Amino acid sequence: MRSICDTVARNLAQVEERIVAACERSGRSREAVTLVAVTKTCTLDQVRAAYDCGLRDVGENRPEELLLRIEALAGAYDDDPLRWHMIGHVQGRKVPGVVAAADVLHSLDSLRLAQRLQRFAQEGERKLPVMVQLNVSGEASKEGWPAWSDELLDETISLLAGLEHMPHLVVLGLMTLAPYVADPEQARPVFRRLRQAQALIQQRLPFAAWSELSMGMTNDYEVAIEEGATMIRIGRAIFGERR
Ligand SMILES: *Cc1c(COP(=O)(O)O)cnc(C)c1O
Repeated sequence: MRSICDTVARNLAQVEERIVAACERSGRSREAVTLVAVTKTCTLDQVRAAYDCGLRDVGENRPEELLLRIEALAGAYDDDPLRWHMIGHVQGRKVPGVVAAADVLHSLDSLRLAQRLQRFAQEGERKLPVMVQLNVSGEASKEGWPAWSDELLDETISLLAGLEHMPHLVVLGLMTLAPYVADPEQARPVFRRLRQAQALIQQRLPFAAWSELSMGMTNDYEVAIEEGATMIRIGRAIFGERR
């Protein structure tokens, strides 16, 4: 446990330094960026180490994993709890569990999913904060609403208007995944495009603030911060390569 803590603490210090530098370069305050530690495939001891290092926002990309971890850590941090971010695709049958357990959903990727989340959130008498996942790169492997051309974004915005009538979903903003590239500079246009989509959506769908931008991972978080990310989702830079 000791050495796990040391590793996480050392990695985190480096990440933190680079976050601060990216914020300074772009004239943003450090408080404007939330670091979500992505714990997928981590051991529970690594999650505990993250907590001991002061991290409170943690993300999982598979609903089963999210529920298992929440159960395993139940009661451990009640005074100052972790916030669990669901960052991966949620299949219909996983919706009840996610609605019951997640604090934030980053990966709202279809109207069907929205309707189902709304239904279970209403039944559970809770409001679920969500981010709408856009596919701005056009990569076929990526989930998300089509937004890689102006026409597609326009159609997507028309559909997103339906969210106004789902009062149990609290729309926070937008999320995207950049393609994996060797040079993070190549991801910059993707992040810029998400921010442009945000401006358009804010104009056309004023029922929500759309103020959050969840973008940037280990390979490209500094560029994402420069382009306006308010939430970055980082796994490997904190916990090391995944098994
Ligand atoms: C795994 C994952 C991340 C973190 O990726 P790293 O490269 O480990 O930083 C971020 N977002 C999503 C949706 C993921 O699945």
